[in-house]
Amino acid sequence: MGSFSHILAGFSLGFRHRRELRRLLDNTPHNFCILDLDPEALRSSGVAILALDFDGVLSHHGAPAPLPETTAWLKRCEALFGGGRLFILSNKPTDGRKQWFAKHFPKIRFVSDVRKKPYPDGLKKAAELAGVPLSSIMMVDDRLLTGCLAALVAGALPCYIRRPYVSFRHRTFSELFFSTLRILERCFVKTITP
Ligand SMILES: [Mg+2]
Repeated sequence: MGSFSHILAGFSLGFRHRRELRRLLDNTPHNFCILDLDPEALRSSGVAILALDFDGVLSHHGAPAPLPETTAWLKRCEALFGGGRLFILSNKPTDGRKQWFAKHFPKIRFVSDVRKKPYPDGLKKAAELAGVPLSSIMMVDDRLLTGCLAALVAGALPCYIRRPYVSFRHRTFSELFFSTLRILERCFVKTITP
């Protein structure tokens, strides 16, 4: 806590990987959400590990647990990949979330005690823990300059969730803040790669 170096890293690493970020942005449909990801198709395309962001991807910001529909999607992934091949890589791995997963998905691991995304440390740790190459890990994230960028820096596969879960009713300020941030980072990526 207390360090903002990952935010600065988002801009500097983002600039370095701007063309890949632009390609990712251009190739992702506007309404793409996690339920559009077909676990069977991922598995057969060679993805061995899924590293999942939490906020915006599995639920709205600050939620203590995934939504019912993403829980069902996680169950499909667990059956196909094995729970040991799924990781939660969130910059906010709260105790409440860890407890929920310990109860419902005891094999799914949180990657913690690493530098925040976009640093590649969390993905490197997941690769080490699972014993697979980084190139077979897919990072699923609703932020271009954190999770998606971490995947590009690490040499893993980025998956950009362009239509994240948002609840203005539950977290008005946070959701406004992060919705603005998502717009700004798309502008940033478009501006630096004209
Ligand atoms: Mg997120």
